[in-house]
Amino acid sequence: MNTMYDSLVWHEVQVTAHAAAKYIPLVYGEVGTEGKRITLIAGTHGDEGPWSALAIKALLENPLNQLKGRIRVIFTANALAAEVNARNSWIDSPNSVDLDSCFPGNPNGSHTERVAAAIAPLVADSDVILDLHGGGSWCVNAFVKRFEGSESIAADMGAPFIANAPNKPGGLTTYARSLGIQVVNVEVGGRSAAEMHWCSQIVKGLERVLYNLGVLALDTPPAPPEKAIDVSKTEAIRARVGGIFVPSVREEAVGTIVPAGTQLGKILNLHTLEELEVFLAPYEQTAMMLLRPEICVVEGSALIYVIATPA
Ligand SMILES: [Zn+2]
Repeated sequence: MNTMYDSLVWHEVQVTAHAAAKYIPLVYGEVGTEGKRITLIAGTHGDEGPWSALAIKALLENPLNQLKGRIRVIFTANALAAEVNARNSWIDSPNSVDLDSCFPGNPNGSHTERVAAAIAPLVADSDVILDLHGGGSWCVNAFVKRFEGSESIAADMGAPFIANAPNKPGGLTTYARSLGIQVVNVEVGGRSAAEMHWCSQIVKGLERVLYNLGVLALDTPPAPPEKAIDVSKTEAIRARVGGIFVPSVREEAVGTIVPAGTQLGKILNLHTLEELEVFLAPYEQTAMMLLRPEICVVEGSALIYVIATPA
């Protein structure tokens, strides 16, 4: 059986980088000859990439003869950042550039701006963009960001929580929407004991999206998505001070609602282990959208949680 993955035709754009390697490739694969073009992108942020990339790979293990459109995949959009497990590439130093803030890019700009300029034409040449972020090396999360005009795609992903997306200046999805392209931003998964559980949830979501777009003719129609909880007022909780972060709730809590007063975790003084800060769930229904599942050392102002309340 020929799979979609086996049938990918690979392309490479050489993006100017550092002296030793001269170029860093932006690699993308394409499969399918006619119909709607879906572009799936992972690894825009280098600390989030491999989980979503693995989910896209699993999606592409479906048979080629089920493909009724065209699929393009970018598994690792920001390779230099992925290599050092960082959100952004180090090469734009001293000014770190967020790849998801410089679209449509600049072919004569910094490395990251050139990566964006290499991706922009692929975005423009798409009917639908599935932009996979997700948790990553330090967090796990469980929501999708919904955009006006693409509501059904967001719902079909079947994530526990769904939030309206802010318009991010220079964002890939912002650029795509300016061209009238449907988009979804997937923020699901990341490093935890449950990483493959979340990976398979993403695969099911992607299959459902592509099936309902008429791009993937699965033998059995996918089950309808679990109804996502609509959240409003998403809120980032940052560390007041740096120190040792010790979680009280771990990966089993992401994607769930916990009652007010639930102890979520604490921060201890790095030198004395004195308790400096305790995080408590603030709302009667506190939706755990993003959390850090592991003990780690964090700097003051580090992002620790994203929470919300049901709409
Ligand atoms: Zn991201």
